[in-house]
Amino acid sequence: MIETKVCIIGAGPGGTTAALQLAQLGIECVVVDKAVFPRDKVCGDGLSGKVLTALEQIDPAVAQRLREFTPKQDSWGVTFVAPGRTSMEVAYKPNYNLQTDEPAGFVCKRIHFDNFMVDEVKRRPEIQLFEGVTIDKYVLQDDGYLVTDTTGNFSVKAPLLIIANGAHSSFTKDVANIRMEPAYYAAGVRAYYKNVKGMHADSFIELHFLKPLLPGYLWIFPLPNGDANVGMDMISEAVRSKKINLKKLLTDTLEQDPVFKERFREAEIDSPIEGYGLPLGSKKRKLSGNRYMLVGDAAYLVDPFTGEGIGNALYAGRIAAQQAAAALAAGDFSESRLAAYDERVYQVLGPELQLSHRLQKLVKYPRLFNLLMKMGTRNKQLKELISCMFYEVDLRKKLAKPSFYVRLLLNK
Ligand SMILES: Cc1cc2nc3c(=O)[nH]c(=O)nc-3n(C[C@H](O)[C@H](O)[C@H](O)COP(=O)(O)OP(=O)(O)OC[C@H]3O[C@@H](n4cnc5c(N)ncnc54)[C@H](O)[C@@H]3O)c2cc1C
Repeated sequence: MIETKVCIIGAGPGGTTAALQLAQLGIECVVVDKAVFPRDKVCGDGLSGKVLTALEQIDPAVAQRLREFTPKQDSWGVTFVAPGRTSMEVAYKPNYNLQTDEPAGFVCKRIHFDNFMVDEVKRRPEIQLFEGVTIDKYVLQDDGYLVTDTTGNFSVKAPLLIIANGAHSSFTKDVANIRMEPAYYAAGVRAYYKNVKGMHADSFIELHFLKPLLPGYLWIFPLPNGDANVGMDMISEAVRSKKINLKKLLTDTLEQDPVFKERFREAEIDSPIEGYGLPLGSKKRKLSGNRYMLVGDAAYLVDPFTGEGIGNALYAGRIAAQQAAAALAAGDFSESRLAAYDERVYQVLGPELQLSHRLQKLVKYPRLFNLLMKMGTRNKQLKELISCMFYEVDLRKKLAKPSFYVRLLLNK
């Protein structure tokens, strides 16, 4: 049996970030993942500005290595296409300069990005990483949790657990008692394509809110070498009630919609179409309890409008590590002490999640959405707000300023 101070289950973006922040604070930990890296994860592969911001806060050297990491595509903005096909291009930075500015967003296949994070973990002597180990037993004892793998041959004892094992976490369901609710959960599918025509010259990501797809949307995210991540997501309630086959809807749309038909005429699919769940942060949950904190998808923190979960997983991972340090210093891992984790997570991410939940509901009303998009093409403030949804980290500060709303109304 291995003994450690903090045991982290899952070495995805949330778990690795927690481990790196703990290491930076001089705290040893064990990270266990069922996969052997590099491993893939079904995702749109869009990395928002939050990713670099969080890594910069943990260790600027890690952020710098990510900037220099070649398998990623810099992205300079986002193109929204409304149900009526009005499109709006929003640059992440007005009048950006490709030579002198730093791109605010990236698209990077998860097989590469997650492996980058795992390599960072491997650099740190404070972290012991175990790959290919599936944890399925969690026993709460007087002095900590004893976690054991499926073979029964591997176990770790720690006073504190950080649960970062993704959307299908059994701990989230069975111990934290958070159940999947179709109204607060989305289903997504994605595939990789080569030779998609009509990509933006500066690699803007594309979100298509087409009428036949609502309340879902289709994305095309540019990757290096002319590849693209193409996918679709939709709230699970609608998928169930309308009995939608998302994989079929995606391929039918690409083959039959006149615009996509042309753009995908010479495109080749380069992967299977795969699906996975998105646990949405549209509802507040209890993210911690006696001797544990939930992080990332295991904590239901995916943005309900943008589908962004990676940046939020990094933010939560960092906060969990900071709270772990405080709990270790106090020798107190109780439910009441760890409630500070929930408070901090919702303080940082709550306002954005709430706003996104409202925008997600708006998507159900195509006329209103068209109108908003038309307004957005003319209204600088609204355009900025939408761009913040994707890439500005401190959106909540902006939303808290009354002057922002005045400028929004006056279109200044
Ligand atoms: C179709 C789709 C598109 C998406 N697009 C985007 C996007 O473009 N941008 C974005 O920011 N987010 C996107 N997301 C969300 C994003 O993928 C997740 O929010 C993100 O992966 C969360 O990271 P995580 O570390 O919490 O979990 P994960 O990345 O799921 O990592 C969990 C880890 O835990 C391990 N694990 C699981 N069970 C066990 C176990 N029992 N024992 C040990 N290890 C275990 C897994 O092997 C895995 O490595 C998308 C999601 C989907 C489904």
